[in-house]
Amino acid sequence: MAPARCAGQLKGCDTPMTAFWTEPDFDDHELVQVVHERQSGLTAIIAVHSSHLGPGAGGTRFWHYPDPQGALRDALRLSRGMSYKNAMAGLPMGGGKAVILADNARTKTPEMLAAFGDAVEALGGQYVTAEDVGMSEADMVTLSQRTAHVSGLPVTGENAAGGDPGPFTSYGIYLGILAAIRHKLGKDGAAGVHVAVQGVGSVGGGVARLLAKDGAKLTLADIDAGAAQALASELGGVAVEADAIMTVPCDVLSPNALGAILDEDSIAALDTAIVAGGANNQLARSAHGDPLFKRGILYAPDYVINAGGIISVASEYLARREGRLGSVEEVRTRIEQIPGRLEEIWQESAASQTSPDIVADRMAQKLIGRG
Ligand code: NAD
Repeated sequence: MAPARCAGQLKGCDTPMTAFWTEPDFDDHELVQVVHERQSGLTAIIAVHSSHLGPGAGGTRFWHYPDPQGALRDALRLSRGMSYKNAMAGLPMGGGKAVILADNARTKTPEMLAAFGDAVEALGGQYVTAEDVGMSEADMVTLSQRTAHVSGLPVTGENAAGGDPGPFTSYGIYLGILAAIRHKLGKDGAAGVHVAVQGVGSVGGGVARLLAKDGAKLTLADIDAGAAQALASELGGVAVEADAIMTVPCDVLSPNALGAILDEDSIAALDTAIVAGGANNQLARSAHGDPLFKRGILYAPDYVINAGGIISVASEYLARREGRLGSVEEVRTRIEQIPGRLEEIWQESAASQTSPDIVADRMAQKLIGRG
């Protein structure tokens, strides 16, 4: 393993850089690079957790963090999450993530993006970036003018891989939900199955549309009540208030909005047989997988079921490195392996009486050589 490196001091961060070696989130990161570029005002953190399986791949988040130490923690947690996600998706990629520390007004300038692109390029391919919260496809195009180690670029040919990863994420979650229905309810297909969808944005909206085609009964919620109502009307579902969705009696709860929604209280109030959705870090703490398991609720570990987007981004990048265009078919073929992985996790979970999230973590750790 390469030794961890860091450079610079986070502006406004009181904790000395060396302190994060001892943070639990550090978890033997191979590289933590702090980038501060005075002229553009860019401050960013690039973290690579593991390169055991390949270059550290994961998107860049552009976010205003009230506390810079929070930005560091976010980068570390997200980067480790990408190691696990990429490993479980069968990708020849390690795990990495970057955060750009935005100001209160989230000012993003071409100069900042150029400086960030230069920083990614300087790592020589150890880190491969793509979109995440606050970063668009257009931003990736801007970065691509400074670095080759960027993906999630616009589609450049018929049936070529690339572009918005959201629909690919939705497709994987849809297949994962079908697998969960088969495993837990013994049913083939979603016809008549009641699915409650939290968040009808890019991912949740796509999942709802795919399930509607199969005749699922849908209850939808979003803090944008108008969006939930519009989609419910279009798909023949029902919209409920955002704070009601977690307790709707249903077969499947599909969280596709925020993380940390599953804690002692919310788990006790669930009225579902299955939790399977795309939101990252659904368990408030890793200990919360156990109460879900003890309640007999089947959980699809988030980073396994929501890997469709990174599968698309990585396939596009890997193909480009080989001097060709990746195809949508190869992306879909990889995504279609998600149900099999979930089934393997659930079987091991039942055999070892261990919650599926812990089983998935152990499998991922083995795959990245840390088991
Ligand atoms: P998005 O912004 O398009 O949609 C999120 C939706 O959730 C929005 O409509 C928002 O109004 C709604 N929302 C926010 N808070 C809510 C709440 N408390 N209750 C109900 N609705 C709420 O984002 P997205 O790309 O669809 O991503 C959704 C989730 O999936 C995020 O957690 C993201 O990290 C995760 N994810 C996305 C991808 C991807 O390819 N886009 C890949 C993997 C994971």
